Amino acid sequence: MKQSLLWTTLLATFCLGLWGLAAWAYRDAVANLAEQGRTDLDLYVAHLQGLLGKYEPLPELLATNPRLIDFIRAPGGRESIEALNRYLETINRISDAGDTYLMDATGLTIAASNWNAERPFVGRNFSFRPYFRDAMEGQLGRYFALGTTSKQRGYYFAYPVREAEEILGAVVVKIDIAATERRWTKPDRSFLVTDPDGVIFISTRPEQRFHTLFPIDAETRARIERSNRYPEAQLEPLDMSLGAQLPAGQVVRLRADRAWPSHQSHLLQTRSMSSAGWQVHALTGTGEALRESLRLTMLAAALIIMSALIAALLFQHQRARRAHTALAERARASLERINSALEERVASRTAELTRTNQRLRDEIDERLRAEQALREAQQALVQSAKLATLGQMSAGINHELNQPLAAIRTYADNGRLLLRKGRAPEVADNLEQILALTDRMAKIGSQFKLFARKTSGELTDLPLAPVIEGAARIAAPLLAKSDGQLKVEVPPNLTVRANDVLLQQVLVNLLGNACQAIAGRPQRWIELSARQLDDSVMTCVEDTGPGIPSADLDRIFEPFFTTKDAGEGLGLGLAISARIATEMGGALTAVPRPTGACFELRLPAAEIHP
Ligand code: ADP
Repeated sequence: MKQSLLWTTLLATFCLGLWGLAAWAYRDAVANLAEQGRTDLDLYVAHLQGLLGKYEPLPELLATNPRLIDFIRAPGGRESIEALNRYLETINRISDAGDTYLMDATGLTIAASNWNAERPFVGRNFSFRPYFRDAMEGQLGRYFALGTTSKQRGYYFAYPVREAEEILGAVVVKIDIAATERRWTKPDRSFLVTDPDGVIFISTRPEQRFHTLFPIDAETRARIERSNRYPEAQLEPLDMSLGAQLPAGQVVRLRADRAWPSHQSHLLQTRSMSSAGWQVHALTGTGEALRESLRLTMLAAALIIMSALIAALLFQHQRARRAHTALAERARASLERINSALEERVASRTAELTRTNQRLRDEIDERLRAEQALREAQQALVQSAKLATLGQMSAGINHELNQPLAAIRTYADNGRLLLRKGRAPEVADNLEQILALTDRMAKIGSQFKLFARKTSGELTDLPLAPVIEGAARIAAPLLAKSDGQLKVEVPPNLTVRANDVLLQQVLVNLLGNACQAIAGRPQRWIELSARQLDDSVMTCVEDTGPGIPSADLDRIFEPFFTTKDAGEGLGLGLAISARIATEMGGALTAVPRPTGACFELRLPAAEIHP
């Protein structure tokens, strides 16, 4: 609402401004036209005055010629008349006047320059003309009228022809006025001359001639008609209405006709020419002024509209720029906010991550410590399991060592006796036997030492057969105790990637369990075999014991699972053996069998070096 009121006010101001500008421009253009008109009018008046001034003294000059006086007194014969006619004709030609003629005291034309023309003045009486009366009264007569004979408009100068004080007649010079119109014809300006009654007798526009500027009353009309000044003239007023009175002149509107296409505004300027009793007018069409003011107004309107458009564009552009800047500022602020929020989040996340990291690191350390503790516990367990095994085997070991000891003693006793008897070769033989027995004992000792040794668990490529042989030797006392038989079927070229101590421990464990299983059984066989698979070596320990109930198959590898009496088993052997097998990259499984037990130990085959 407020906006529309503003626009309406602006539009109204714009229109009013344009109207004011148009009015000002029109007045200015009219003033220019008036200025020009005034100049032209002055020139025209000067021209008319010059023209009249040129002929005014001519009749007086002619009147001084005695020939004219003589002629009026006694016109003489035909020759005399013709001679005067020719004289007047010559004068007329030289002075470039319209007609020059001589009248006697009655007003009769007795000689004329146009004596030879179609309608000569000679013989005609113009006594009714005021100029004649003025001349006969001894004055310079001057008059304007439409010629009754010639039908030509003319200005008459008449001067008395005197002899002494007597006025004999008058000499008249008539000036053709039409030439003054032809030369002053202009397209947008007309000049007109009115007599004291307002009758237009000179006009550069023929259609205006013998009209009146303003309506005349009947009395004046009758007087003019009586004077026969303008014979047959209608003396109709011009169809003209008055407009504004400007300092430069009167604005009038003239009826449309062919030459003046519509009711057009004109500027009427007037000068009076008192010597002739005339009013000289200039009528200037204001159409050009109107057109010029319209052109100027349109140009101004176009300029204003263009300026307004440019201003609107600039304003729009500036507003867009401001909006863009504000947008960019907002975007920057929001980016900053997002950035700082992000930074905060990153910082908090980083702190959180650092905390989590620390926690993880702590957890890892904890795990490592736990693993270390576990490994240590495991090793302790392995060791205690080994020691337990050794404990179990101690009776066997005892037997195993006592037997050679007793034999050594026997050989030594025998050797002493034989030495006394001097049977040296046999002594030597006994000593040989003793040496062999001590070797065997040392071997047994070293095997057990090896078994009891702690190991770092390092893996190496090693032949399988010697490890199996060592294990068998360690298990020998147990086997002996169970009164069992061990059958070993191992190809000599099999190699595995394993730790010898741990592998031997696993095998001793399995053999130990087998020995315990076959104890007291009618069949007491243990079979230890090995075979090469693709990239691994499978070692089987089978026995003719009672076997493992299927319900226990899953549980036997659990630590501390045992079916044995207290003091005979800890329930750790298989658990530790399975763990060792896994750590060496293999596996230990119990294979269900209808009779006896079967354990399969799979180990990676040794890498074959070329
Ligand atoms: P332990 O021998 O101290 O009991 P193990 O872990 O070596 O501990 O054995 C766990 C159990 O597995 C034994 O108590 C036994 O019941 C069973 N077992 C192991 N080997 C055999 C086997 N060869 N024959 C029958 N049962 C066996």
